Amino acid sequence: MSKTDNNNSPIYMPDDSVGKGYMTTRLDRIIGLARKNSLWPLPFATSCCGIEFMATMAAHYDLGRFGMERLSFSPRQSDMLMVMGTISKKLGPVLKEVYLQMAEPRWVMAIGACASSGGIFDTYSVLQGIDRIIPVDVYVPGCPPRPEQIIDGAMKIQELAHNESLRRRNLPEYQELLSKYGIK
Ligand code: SF4
Repeated sequence: MSKTDNNNSPIYMPDDSVGKGYMTTRLDRIIGLARKNSLWPLPFATSCCGIEFMATMAAHYDLGRFGMERLSFSPRQSDMLMVMGTISKKLGPVLKEVYLQMAEPRWVMAIGACASSGGIFDTYSVLQGIDRIIPVDVYVPGCPPRPEQIIDGAMKIQELAHNESLRRRNLPEYQELLSKYGIK
């Protein structure tokens, strides 16, 4: 196990912090480690990208390997929102309500071209990307993205969860980001 504070080390252990029968580390690194390995996804799937997500959950790709087999369809018990498929403008407020019901800290993945930018549906009825209504942490490109890409996106969220400062959610910058979306 590495003793250095880098993104790959599972636990941060400063030099001279490990002895016979004990070790010391930082609280934020332990909490980050726990959050990273206990993400509960909420799949918000509306169309074809959702089918690709089903493949990601199935035996061959098996997102459960990352501790994510517990799909939470209850926003209050989930911390990773995965949005897959075309989101119509009518559905936008529903998606935002789901996001608002999730407790902090929460992370959002826009999976596929439609969720990220409206995709090929540049029409009056389709939202041109979910970041018009809620903040997005990771975008997964593709129409549809392969399961490997979805897994890669989930691992990027894990990285964010692992390395996020415990103070980030209380910082003025974060509050400012939320206020841009009319969220208090
Ligand atoms: S990005 Fe492509 S595959 Fe995914 S929902 Fe849109 S049209 Fe379907």
